[in-house]
Amino acid sequence: YQAKRDRTGVEVYESKRDSNTPDRLGLLGDLRRALDAHEVQLHYQPKVRFDGQVAGLEALVRWVHPERGKVPPDEFIAIAESSGLMPYLTEYVLETALGQVAKWRAQGLHVPVAVNVSPRDVHTPGFAGSVAARLARHGVPAGALQLEITEHVLLEDPQRAADTLAGLTGHGVKMSLDDFGTGYSSLVHLRRLPVSELKIDRSFVARLAVDTEDAEIVRCTVDLAHSLGLLVVAEGVEDDETWERLRDLGCDAVQGWLVAAAMPPEETTAWLRARGSRGWQRPRAALPAAA
Ligand code: C2E
Ligand code: MG
Ligand code: MG
Ligand code: MG
Repeated sequence: YQAKRDRTGVEVYESKRDSNTPDRLGLLGDLRRALDAHEVQLHYQPKVRFDGQVAGLEALVRWVHPERGKVPPDEFIAIAESSGLMPYLTEYVLETALGQVAKWRAQGLHVPVAVNVSPRDVHTPGFAGSVAARLARHGVPAGALQLEITEHVLLEDPQRAADTLAGLTGHGVKMSLDDFGTGYSSLVHLRRLPVSELKIDRSFVARLAVDTEDAEIVRCTVDLAHSLGLLVVAEGVEDDETWERLRDLGCDAVQGWLVAAAMPPEETTAWLRARGSRGWQRPRAALPAAA
């Protein structure tokens, strides 16, 4: 593998795109060990509505490898997915996230948390029941948990996926459709998936303010989602102008570095407390210098 340093000076692991099988195996063994050693952490990124209210937090997994440095989630999730380790990783993430939600609730911070689940999880027999049991064990109401899925859950055995998702929503867990627009024949899936929220992929949001085609795609997606009774969240909002365009297009909530990047638990607690009942306030745009 190659390593480079990111802005914080921490080494970032970068695999070569192809055929690094021994390396992948090494990383897989390390991940298994890292999960057992609780070296994998969750960070939390807020979703906020346009009035500033915090709609929820998304749990995003973080792994700092003792030698390789930060391993990007996309990298090790692909490995977990193809190796059979995914259900174990998901159990770990759910367990950690629900423990944190219970802690926040005990401190009077009632904020729903979204956990990303992979297609493999949705096809694991008994998944819906195990999520329900875990909620009960932590004393967390199902409404405080959201699961983010992608259209890929329907690639293989759509009937079983549909049954699992129906089981989850039956228990009161809310489902969100992540990375919307990057899958295949999205419209069919929207009808088949019992989701209450749709997240527009960052690739459409990034250039929204400068690319009229992207703006049209976002406009149509927002309208379609609303006509189906879904809430719409835009991912990857980095600047004021994009925020304003999304508000004008009728989007319901945003997530992105403009508001906050994913933060470690203690920092998230401080962030939530600082917002209190006022919610998140957009930093005032710098006033133009007097002529
Ligand atoms: P995702 O669920 O679509 O998460 C959004 C990704 O965009 C996150 O990357 C987040 O850090 C990043 N992001 C947020 N705001 C901005 C922004 O304003 N600009 C830019 N450029 N990026 C932004 P991250 O944390 O690297 O995660 C990548 C993907 O890995 C996630 O995409 C999700 O699919 C997956 N993932 C993360 N945690 C988990 C997990 O616990 N389980 C599973 N199954 N997948 C996970
Ligand atoms: Mg997500
Ligand atoms: Mg996403
Ligand atoms: Mg995405």
